Amino acid sequence: MSDVSLKGLRKSYGSVKVIPSLDLDICSGEFVVLVGPSGSGKSTLLRMVAGLEAVDAGTVSVDGEDVTARDPGDRDMAMVFQSYALYPHMTVAENMTFALRMRGTDEATIGERLSEALRMLSLEGLEHRKPGQLSGGQRQRVAMGRAIVREPRVFLFDEPLSNLDAKLRARTRIELRELHDKLGATSIFVTHDQIEAMTMADRIVLLDQGRIQQVGSPREIYERPRNVFVASFIGSPE
Ligand code: ADP
Ligand code: MG
Repeated sequence: MSDVSLKGLRKSYGSVKVIPSLDLDICSGEFVVLVGPSGSGKSTLLRMVAGLEAVDAGTVSVDGEDVTARDPGDRDMAMVFQSYALYPHMTVAENMTFALRMRGTDEATIGERLSEALRMLSLEGLEHRKPGQLSGGQRQRVAMGRAIVREPRVFLFDEPLSNLDAKLRARTRIELRELHDKLGATSIFVTHDQIEAMTMADRIVLLDQGRIQQVGSPREIYERPRNVFVASFIGSPE
């Protein structure tokens, strides 16, 4: 059984069909990278999966259960945004545990999960700082930590490395992929960057104008592009 199943997902804004109709099955434990040019509908799709955007039609299922009508907090998913969306007035620890507190998780569990996440992300000693007192890379880790402590079944990433400089981005790609493997998570990672897709993905889903152009391993996509769009998108340097 696939862990995340999207069937007939559709979204328009006014007369613009951003996602005409999309089907996709993601397996448990997979790291799927959704890649495509700017404006191809990646964020819209991810937001529908997360429940942050209503679908016009179609269903989102997790482990065979239809979650389309559920609130974002009840989907067993955690999303990491490009902007990180940290609360500037809260400390690192408060940012990372806010969602758990809102959910009424007991203090002992919150404490355990926080120290585990701080350790995994090498953020120990920074828990009392505010986001403004952190480097870009550290802020990115706090955003990751906020997702990790929720122990979701599915991680959703919307260009989470785009605000890092090139060197840090290359390193964080590897670390993030290792973290996914260690957590045994299922991840959907959105990017417009072909290199990110090629280096991180188990499977790449290539999107253009809201339509899937090809699904396959990085190697399949590279060696056997199905059409001119795929060939030129994967072949062209950033
Ligand atoms: P991507 O993440 O691939 O860059 P988006 O999903 O953000 O693409 O956007 C896809 C298309 O939908 C774009 O043409 C964008 O202008 C449009 N769009 C996205 N969100 C909205 C919105 N809230 N209202 C109107 N149009 C939108
Ligand atoms: Mg986007």
